[in-house]
Amino acid sequence: MLTCNEVSRMVAGDLRGEPWRRRLGVRLHLLMCDHCRRFTAEMAALNRAVQLMQRPVPDQEIAEQSARVMRKLRPDTDPASPPSS
Ligand SMILES: [Zn+2]
Repeated sequence: MLTCNEVSRMVAGDLRGEPWRRRLGVRLHLLMCDHCRRFTAEMAALNRAVQLMQRPVPDQEIAEQSARVMRKLRPDTDPASPPSS
């Protein structure tokens, strides 16, 4: 049986290049080990977050999000008008 250390290193990398017996060993270990299941889920979430961070964000989306934040911070001001001093 694979150890937690072996499984965590394998799921942090790319399992596609591993032999089927090793991949099966990872699956069996994950069925029995809460710690490695949690770690695997966290790695998947981290990978999704990195992919989202790498996508290009259109200027219009940035402007819309900025306006939404400004409306939350200063609900009484119009974000289209410049701030008064
Ligand atoms: Zn484990």
